Parts: sequence; structure tokens; C-alpha cells
Amino acid sequence: MYNHAPQEYKCPICLAIEGIESEDTMMKQDDIFYRDDLVMAVINSKFVGNNPGHAIVVPLKHYENLYELPEKEANQIMKVAKEVAIAMKEVRKSDGVMIQQNNEPASGQHAFHYHMHIFPRFEEDHFGENRSNVRVANPKEREPFSSAMKEYFSKRKV
Ligand SMILES: [Zn+2]
Repeated sequence: MYNHAPQEYKCPICLAIEGIESEDTMMKQDDIFYRDDLVMAVINSKFVGNNPGHAIVVPLKHYENLYELPEKEANQIMKVAKEVAIAMKEVRKSDGVMIQQNNEPASGQHAFHYHMHIFPRFEEDHFGENRSNVRVANPKEREPFSSAMKEYFSKRKV
């Protein structure tokens, strides 16, 4: 519903879900730190300002946006997001946690597969001013963040 993915869209998130690493997706399998029957959680390939290593939670089935996301997936995404938020507090020692979820290009959606961003927030991180300060992080830079989250989730059931 209200779709914007071009014809023949090679969904980068679906490729990662299928276990594929290629030039069509920035995601690496090492970025994935949680997976169940419905959703997975990943360290985002792009780092924002002073808030590197934020996470996204995605449904395993392809839905472009919130408008078409079934309740079953939506509920599980929120359950996992809550656990990721607590992990940001415990693992990252963040002062707060922020969730952002964009639908359609007008709102800043770039990857046309539903994804919920979960940012660790810190006092004086100047997130608003740095929101456009986005860069693709090297997989090696992402690895410590995904490892820490894997460690956290290895001890918990969502
Ligand atoms: Zn997809």
C-alpha cells in the first residue's frame, strides 16, 4: 500500500534475510544479532553522528511499510524493540533510547522494506543537529556492536 519500491527492486534487507552478502546489500551476516520465526534485529550499516551502532528490527517477510505490516509481525517487532532498547541501556550504557520508523520517501524511508530504527541516546549527543551526518560504517566498526548485542541476546528469550 502506497508503495515506492521501483520495479525489479533488489531488496537489500531480503537479501540479508536470505543469507546473501553482495554488492546489492550493505548488510553483513555478522550484523544480525537476533532472529526468530518472524523478525530479526541487526546493527545498521550506517552510523549517525554521535550515536554509532544503532539497531534496526525488520520482519522476515517483505512488507514495504507500516501500512501493510500484519499485526502478528508488528507485535513481535515491538516485543523485540523493547528488548533491544533495554540492551541499549545495559550494553551501551545509553542515557535514553529513541525509536524512529519512516514510511515513504517523504518521511525519509530509503530501504523499501519495513524497518524500525532503535538509537542509543546520550546526554549532549546533539542528535538533531547530527541527523544528516550519516556515513556507511565499515563492517569491522560494526562488529563490536553486534557482538555485544549477540552476547546480550544469547542469555535471553524474547
Ligand atoms: Zn525486503
